[in-house]
Amino acid sequence: MMIGFPLLMYYFWVCLEYYQGKLISPEHLFSMASWQDFLVHDIWDHIKLGAAPTWTAFFIYGGYVLFSFILAAVMPGPVVEGLPVPSLKGEKLKYICNGLSSWYVTLALSGVLQYTKWFDLALIVDNFGGIMTVAILWGFIMSTLVYVISTAKGTNHRMSGNFFYDYFMGACLNPRIGPVDLKMWAEIRVPWPVLFYITLSCMIKQYENSGTVTAPICFMLLAHFLYSNACQKGEECIPPSWDIFYEKDGFMLIFWNMAGVPFTYCYSSIYLLKTELATGTPITHSTPYTIFLFVCLLLGYYVFDTGNSQKNRFRMEQVGTFMMRNGFPQLPWGHLKHPTYITTEHGNLLLTSGWWGIARKPHYTGDLLMALSWGLITGFGSFLPYFYFCFFLCVLTHRVSRDMERCAKKYGKDWDRYCERVPYIFIPYVY
Ligand code: NDP
Repeated sequence: MMIGFPLLMYYFWVCLEYYQGKLISPEHLFSMASWQDFLVHDIWDHIKLGAAPTWTAFFIYGGYVLFSFILAAVMPGPVVEGLPVPSLKGEKLKYICNGLSSWYVTLALSGVLQYTKWFDLALIVDNFGGIMTVAILWGFIMSTLVYVISTAKGTNHRMSGNFFYDYFMGACLNPRIGPVDLKMWAEIRVPWPVLFYITLSCMIKQYENSGTVTAPICFMLLAHFLYSNACQKGEECIPPSWDIFYEKDGFMLIFWNMAGVPFTYCYSSIYLLKTELATGTPITHSTPYTIFLFVCLLLGYYVFDTGNSQKNRFRMEQVGTFMMRNGFPQLPWGHLKHPTYITTEHGNLLLTSGWWGIARKPHYTGDLLMALSWGLITGFGSFLPYFYFCFFLCVLTHRVSRDMERCAKKYGKDWDRYCERVPYIFIPYVY
């Protein structure tokens, strides 16, 4: 995966940048010469041409990463406690949740930069290949630094002894620089805002090129804004999550957050722009189809947002960390006033009302609906805008099976009672 994923990212990028999203292959699959020609001319020459790590790319990506790190260190926000960490003798780490204030400052600053033309955001998509390379390199560099420093400091945990496995899964649990928890910062502050800015850049480029913006690109901007915004406004729910509490800070999380998410989840936006630039004709759809997809996106978002919020707020109320924040938007039904639940011998309560009385993973269903709509808004000309949906479907179905197995072990017969009470996982009467 460590070798294959970056290669796949380059391959998809070449297909998008130079072949309008067509998945290219050697002319003759069983001929060495054909493969050589394909790898050298179709892939490598294009990478050299459009994805070299230039200084401009370095300043754009590095500038954002550094800026977001500084904001994470200095901006105000509520402090929440994580779960007790066994390796720290049950100590609860504190997390400054200043994602929302940092997000608003970033949006305001980028608005000023664009308005004054000190930095034209269209440069992001103009330098997409180079920025992606810088992000990939940074993914490797940061993973290595975290691994080496934690090994030197002796803060490693659960090491298997196999270097490659440990490098991939990580060595330490909660690396920090000053007040900034590197894992949480990397998970929330980099991937989603970068994804949003890539799409905003596509929209500005489209406007600069044709003097107009199309409904599909507005759709993608709304989609990526909603996702990024949701991560910042619900940040206080993240410290007790599996990634923060249990997962180590290794290549898997670091690379994926620093490079994988922003530079693969953006294919719909890039495809819309590149197709228009190559053919001179923007991708648009009939009004009913476009409205239908906006409805799907907003419906998916509503279920995703309120589903996560119902469960997290319910759990936070149990442990006394609940706080009402004013991040926009606060949707109706996001907080259940008199929830029903199943008590367990373990002590945790399992929510059975709201969306959680209808399905066991309602927020996954909403998330998947959004992911599918990101593909459908581009039409059916290329597989690449559907890559995110396909990949995400695999990730979530794998997560569901692991999670159900873990909960069945953890809660025993109480889990069986819960499954009887809420028999469907994604959609009632379907699955
Ligand atoms: P979940 O929100 O599904 O959390 C699972 C845990 O919640 C379980 O292990 C259990 O933990 C607890 N739980 C399960 N059922 C109940 C219940 N009825 N009442 C109370 N607690 C319950 O975790 P994820 O981190 O997988 O997902 C969070 C969100 O992030 C989702 O919306 C998902 O779609 C999204 N996501 C997005 C990704 C992306 O790349 N776009 C990648 C991964 C996730 P316990 O042991 O405490 O009981």
